[in-house]
Amino acid sequence: MSWYNDFVSRLIQCRACPRLVSYRESVKPLPRFMDDNYWRRPVPPWGDLGNARIMIVGLAPAAHGGNRTGRMFTGGDSSAQFLFRALYEAGLSNKPYSISRDDGVAVRCVYITSVVKCAPPDNRPNNEEIHTCVNNWFRYELVRVMPRAIIALGHIAFLGIKLALGIRAEFRHGGYIDFNGVRIFMSYHPSPRNTNTGRLRIEDLVSILRMAMEHAGC
Ligand code: SF4
Repeated sequence: MSWYNDFVSRLIQCRACPRLVSYRESVKPLPRFMDDNYWRRPVPPWGDLGNARIMIVGLAPAAHGGNRTGRMFTGGDSSAQFLFRALYEAGLSNKPYSISRDDGVAVRCVYITSVVKCAPPDNRPNNEEIHTCVNNWFRYELVRVMPRAIIALGHIAFLGIKLALGIRAEFRHGGYIDFNGVRIFMSYHPSPRNTNTGRLRIEDLVSILRMAMEHAGC
């Protein structure tokens, strides 16, 4: 992906959303991460850049996850650990965790990103912030990656995908829609609210990953 390095170098300088810039830069380190240098910038996507056929789309970086480590779905947050257990189970990651940028994790066939690139307070970006980040960054990624399958993790990720593609559809966990040859799968977000209550189980997410793999030829 020849565009990727230039994209990331521009992305990490973005300050278009004052509320999110203020929050990402002021997050207080958790006691167990007191010695870490928090990233505190827009969090770059990553993945199998030479062969990304499935785009996995989250909501936004976690305050003490991606906003600390500088890699999407990476750090101490339980959403990242749940996603990587599922990726490992599906054969898309060489390790069942994602904890730091030098943890040796390698994924295959997937590109991991989010519709909003900066950690929002309470994990809730507002509508203007979602539109701004989709228009500035996410739509461009979609065009450049050209995935065969997309997995929307949660309603807001799905909203961002719809905005980027200009489509209308209802979110339905476990369902999918087709658009211009791309199949867009929908899953509840792997947040503790969904995983601790059993609303989303590992086997559910693995099943969605496997459907995307089959569609994308992974
Ligand atoms: Fe820029 Fe997106 Fe961060 Fe807003 S959320 S400041 S558009 S990178």
